[in-house]
Amino acid sequence: MMCGVVKVVGLGPGSQALLAPAGRQAVESADVILGYATYLDLIADIAPDVPRQSSGMRKEIERAGEAIRLASQGSTAVVVSGGDPGIYGMAGLIFEMREQTGAAVEIEVFPGISALNAAASLLGAPLMTDFAVVSLSDHLVTLEEITKRLELVTQTDFILCLYNPKGKKRVKPFEEACEILLKWRAPETVVGIVRKAYRPGQQVTLVPLGDLPNCDIDMLTVIIVGNQKTRVIDGRMVTPRGYRNKYEFSEDV
Ligand code: SAH
Repeated sequence: MMCGVVKVVGLGPGSQALLAPAGRQAVESADVILGYATYLDLIADIAPDVPRQSSGMRKEIERAGEAIRLASQGSTAVVVSGGDPGIYGMAGLIFEMREQTGAAVEIEVFPGISALNAAASLLGAPLMTDFAVVSLSDHLVTLEEITKRLELVTQTDFILCLYNPKGKKRVKPFEEACEILLKWRAPETVVGIVRKAYRPGQQVTLVPLGDLPNCDIDMLTVIIVGNQKTRVIDGRMVTPRGYRNKYEFSEDV
């Protein structure tokens, strides 16, 4: 039988302008497109004649299994994922499923602009030096693991990006995260909050860390917590990389 392919495509944060051309071409090459309904909506006008299979938020396993099944029958099955598919996305699961099922299918991953890239650009330039990324979702990882990682990275001077910060019913990880952050970092530390980056209703907010526990945070939000060097420059969040220590800036630009 002909060997099909599963293409796992990152759609970027939301606007089609930030979907990479290679990812768009992959969508256009599909025999079938699978994904969470919100992501299918984002690409409704790309290859509109290609059949879509939408599935709910927690149906990742069924979606991955179906993509592998269709590809093993010779189809090009495109699985769309928000942001980058290899960052808390669908790519890893597809590899695991192929291993488990032994299906003879190719897998291709198409990178996307992740929420951290999108948020950083809207905030200014907060990720100019080393940073760490932590998801606060305790759906697949225990809360103990999350808090342990947070404790460790917060003590270093890494800038921190927090994904999946708070759900309607899942508030404890966020509360614990705020407590850990405030234990190790000054309350004046600059924090950038970006909601719905590059989507209608986008919100970009800067607050001191001390105010973070009282901010409106939800699952459509990514949070960037600055390090000791992070400053607000002309209203934007910037982590200077150190050029100024090494070189004199000329007054006349
Ligand atoms: N694969 C995705 C992340 C999936 S986890 C990526 O690379 O971006 C889902 C989390 O990503 C959300 O809870 C939120 O924290 C973040 N996120 C995704 N898209 C976002 C957007 N447009 N604006 C703000 N945060 C976003």
